[in-house]
Amino acid sequence: MMLDPNDWSNLRKQGHQMLDDMFDYLQNIREKPVWQQAPASVQAEFTEGLSQQGKPLSQLHETFMQQILPYSVGNAHPGFMGWVHGGGTPVGMLAEMLAAGLNANLGGRNQIPIDVEWQVVGWMRDLFGFPQSSSGILTTGTSSATIIAFTTARHALQKPASKNLAVYASCEAHGCITRALKIMGMHASIVRKIPSNAQHQMDVDVLLTHIQHDQQQATIPWLIVGTAGSVNTGAMDDLSTLAKIAKEVGAWLHIDGALGALAMLSPSLAPRLQGIEHANSLAMDFHKWGQVPYDAGLVLIRDGELHRQCFAAGDAYLQREAEGLAAHSPWPCDYGMDLSRGFRALKVWFTFKHFGKQRLGEMIEHSCHLAQSLAKQIQNIDTLELMAVVSLNVVCFRYIGNGSRSDEAYNTLNRAMLCHIQASGLAAPSLTYLDGRAVIRAAIVNHRSQEEDIGKLLAAVQKAAQACDN
Ligand SMILES: *Cc1c(COP(=O)(O)O)cnc(C)c1O
Repeated sequence: MMLDPNDWSNLRKQGHQMLDDMFDYLQNIREKPVWQQAPASVQAEFTEGLSQQGKPLSQLHETFMQQILPYSVGNAHPGFMGWVHGGGTPVGMLAEMLAAGLNANLGGRNQIPIDVEWQVVGWMRDLFGFPQSSSGILTTGTSSATIIAFTTARHALQKPASKNLAVYASCEAHGCITRALKIMGMHASIVRKIPSNAQHQMDVDVLLTHIQHDQQQATIPWLIVGTAGSVNTGAMDDLSTLAKIAKEVGAWLHIDGALGALAMLSPSLAPRLQGIEHANSLAMDFHKWGQVPYDAGLVLIRDGELHRQCFAAGDAYLQREAEGLAAHSPWPCDYGMDLSRGFRALKVWFTFKHFGKQRLGEMIEHSCHLAQSLAKQIQNIDTLELMAVVSLNVVCFRYIGNGSRSDEAYNTLNRAMLCHIQASGLAAPSLTYLDGRAVIRAAIVNHRSQEEDIGKLLAAVQKAAQACDN
């Protein structure tokens, strides 16, 4: 039973309408609220069971426009500043459509789509100064890239053991670090959470003390994790020093570049990432600062052969040949957990090819300028307090009114204000805690964000203060 339409002309009309609706959405996005709570009636629509008979495409399209699109997170909107979310682009959207139409499976086999993925990997290898012999694949994001990197790092050990190994990461490191180790069956007690300094970077002196202590206990300093842009404050660890220490003690250096690695595209920011070229592995995202539609991340591994040996499978049905469809080895499935894999690379390829390095770098630099501008304005407002040094594109602040209350009272107040700000539809920052203090956190990641959106955020903060501070 074929699932293609009987009437292609009808489908074409419907498809063009869908495309136009999405162009309209993106073109006019500023006129809409950043986010709005979905009504219970809409939520109830999505609890219905599966129906026996199909529905016309026009009806599903209508449901999408009326009940799904208006109630998404809103990260395409320039006022979205919560967590670390990319904005996407119309170019990425079109590439995603082309990839879906082709329906390529990039696990392996003799096809050009794999060359597209290898080309993207090669661009990143060059960007981050990794050697030709390094390897990489596209992943769903940094979380899965980290699992691949750590699994390869474990494969590199002479005698694979989860005992007597130590992992060092800053207390500001992302949760995906400990989660990856947990998924690999390793005990959380092997992680040494190294305190951070006043700039929220890993304190390298404390790191050294921990390593020396572990070595005295016959514990192997296995893995050092540096963060290129921490999720809380955007702090950049001193990657050069971490690389030096890792080399001295024979540890594997992994860099979490989910948030900040692509700052490398900006000539003025790139020096901040110095040392990244010495890493044994790098995990990063295209779907954040790279503005590629979700989801797209990458893992790069310095020792490409070790990476392949770690994941390659010798199953008979995956046998390679010199010619035909089973040629063109090695395949992406030799470098990660997934056998069947989508053509994630196409939207990355379109994004980088279309905008080019320079424009993407300028866009990233602009985010940092906006963050600095926001920080300056906060410092000029008596009722607000800047809570962390602005390193890249993340600004943490809180409302303190006349400054006479306890941290606990401020925590409650700022949490209430945050809900108010998000519900206003003007801006959508998120909340985090720094040293136990609740802070409003604006991560300027979206390429559509401009000075006027910073103004709207501050206006929403003032309104929330009026509503909540009584
Ligand atoms: C987002 C983020 C991650 C996780 O990446 P995913 O792509 O969401 O899996 C890891 N580390 C940092 C610093 C991040 O900002």
